[in-house]
Order: sequence, then structure tokens, then C-alpha cells
Amino acid sequence: MKKLLSTISNFFIFFLLSAFVTSCCVMLFVSLLQSSIGRAFTQEEITVAAKITMLNVILLSVGMAIIDYVRRKFTVERPVKRITEATSKMMEGDFSVRIHPTAKFATDDSFNEIIDCFNKMASELSGVETLRTDFIANVSHEMKTPLAVMQNYGTLLQAPDLPEEKRIEYAKTITDASRRLADMMTNILKLNRLENQQIYPNPTTFDLGEQLCESLLQYESVWERKNIEIETDIAEGVLVSADTELLSLVWNNLFSNAFKFTEDGGKVTLTLAADEEYATVKIADTGCGMSAEVGAHIFEKFYQGDTSHATQGNGLGLALVKRVVDIMQGEIGVESAVGVGTTFTVRIRRANYGPDEAR
Ligand code: ADP
Repeated sequence: MKKLLSTISNFFIFFLLSAFVTSCCVMLFVSLLQSSIGRAFTQEEITVAAKITMLNVILLSVGMAIIDYVRRKFTVERPVKRITEATSKMMEGDFSVRIHPTAKFATDDSFNEIIDCFNKMASELSGVETLRTDFIANVSHEMKTPLAVMQNYGTLLQAPDLPEEKRIEYAKTITDASRRLADMMTNILKLNRLENQQIYPNPTTFDLGEQLCESLLQYESVWERKNIEIETDIAEGVLVSADTELLSLVWNNLFSNAFKFTEDGGKVTLTLAADEEYATVKIADTGCGMSAEVGAHIFEKFYQGDTSHATQGNGLGLALVKRVVDIMQGEIGVESAVGVGTTFTVRIRRANYGPDEAR
């Protein structure tokens, strides 16, 4: 009904337009003809000419309305219909939908621009959706293991004639599992806040060497227990302007991994060097190392290349490290060889050469 009304109104617009144009032309033609032949037309001649002109106007208007209808059908209605259908599919949650651009001759190019934008939006949204579903799957999976441990050992603890040492062992296992769960939740929350930019870095200027030493010293008991040799080469007076808490998160995670993946009797080396613009920190270990395949994924959330240490982490540490380094507009790289060791290199701007001065 709506379409019929629009076709009729189109017809009337074309009718009025052609009537106006044709009448003007005919009046001009008639007056010129009269003056050139030197006589006025009779009433009868004018009536016949007016009828023919009217018929012409009607035929012309019908023709134009039909041509316009067909043109709109192909160049406007078809692409609009495809865009609307794709949008409805997306509203129902299907982010895989894409629209093929219409052939250039068959449509206004603006529709292809809209289609192009729509396809880009759809691929962005499908990426976000995949990340979200992967994230939920990973979190659920990671939560299941400690929860199952807590459940099983909780049941074992209920046995009435349990020896004292077993009771202590089971209670410790439950405490460890709940600590893992709490650590994971803390890391997820930190990562989430960092990714949503809800943490606004609060930069202060401080000595990077001092911060690195403080962070390293936290692992003293570990390196003593595992008999790991420590070597340091720290340039003095290297100031950086950064959020201390965020940056210490980076060093803590890198040291924690270095000690975790290094066998007893190995070596961990800390180097801080600086040029005019950048401070470069290297944390190297003689641990198990990793293959290129593992190295390509280590900054992804929940990725754990080395499953033998899976109970000591949750695969979020390096994702956090990467996020913090990105926020600080720094760089992080890794070099590693299986059975030889791993070196993480972090480069950040020095305090006296901040981005503002660089500009
Ligand atoms: P997690 O340590 O909790 O497993 P991370 O995000 O800190 O998670 O590290 C991800 C993976 O990167 C680890 O599972 C391990 O395979 C690899 N990795 C990180 N640091 C080292 C290292 N120093 N030596 C060997 N492998 C490492």
C-alpha cells in the first residue's frame, strides 16, 4: 500500500513537471510559428493540438515514473534491503554476517561506503565477541581446577579418624587452592581495569635501579632455597617517570617467572643500561627456555606454555606485563632457546626525555 502511494505520488510529481515543461515549450513554439506564418491558429486547431500535448504529457509522465521505479528498485531498494537484513542478523547475535558490495554501475557509491563500514564494524565486533567468549571459557576452566581440589580435600577432611599430619596436609592443599583462586581473581580484575583504562597511571620520577633491586630482593628466599646464582649490572642514576605500582608489577612478574622456570643451581641476571632517551632492562635466566611456538603466544591471556608449572600461575602474568608496558608506550621483547634460557628485554623512556620533550 505504502509502495503504491509512493508510486502514485511520484507519477504526479513527474506529471506536473512534464506538463509545466511541455506547456512552456508548446506555447513558445506556437507563438513563434504564428508570427512566422503570419496568421493566428483557429479554435479547432488549438483544441486538437492541446489534446495531443496532454496525451504526450501523460505518456511522458508514466514513462518517467516507470523508469524511476525500476532505477530505485535496483540502485536503492536492493542495497538497503541487504543492509537491513544484515543488521537484523547482527542484532540477533550473528557477528559472522558480511555484505557483498554492489556492482558500481548498479548503485550509488555511497551505499558501497556504508557496506564497507558495516563489514569493518562486523569484523571488529566478531573479534570482541570471540575474545569475550574465550575469556569466559578460560576463566571457568581455570576456576574449576582449584574448586575441585577444595571440594575433594574438604570431603577428605571430614573423615572422623584422620591422622593429624593428613589433616594438616589437606588443609594446606585447600589453602593453596584458595590462594590460587584469589590470585587469579586479583589478576583478572587488574587486567580488566587496565584494559578498560580505569586505572589512570599516576607518574612520579624515581630511580629505576632502586626499584629493580627492591623487586629482586623479594625473591631472596626463593633463590637461596633453589641455590640460584644472581648477577646484576645496574647503571646508576637512571630516572624514569612512571606509575611505581604499575611498573613494579612488570618486574615482579618477570622475576617470578625467571625463578619459577629456572632449575636449582641455575642463574638469573639483571641488567639495567641507559642511553640518552631510553632505559633498557634485561632479566635473563638459565631456565628451561621456550620454543618459538610458545614464545609467540606468551603475552596472550591464560596462555601457559609450560604446563608442569601450571599450578604456580594462571597465564595472566605476561598479559598484565604487556598491557602495562603498552600503557607506558614502552617495548617488550623476548629471546629464548629451549634448555638454554630466556631473556626478557623492556625498554622505557627516561624521565628527562619524556614524550612531551621529544616533540
Ligand atoms: P604463568 O607463569 O602463570 O604460566 P605467564 O603469563 O607469566 O603465566 O607466562 C606465560 C607462559 O610463558 C608460561 O606458562 C611459560 O610457558 C612462558 N614463560 C614465561 N616466562 C618464562 C621464562 N622465564 N622461561 C621459560 N618460559 C617462560
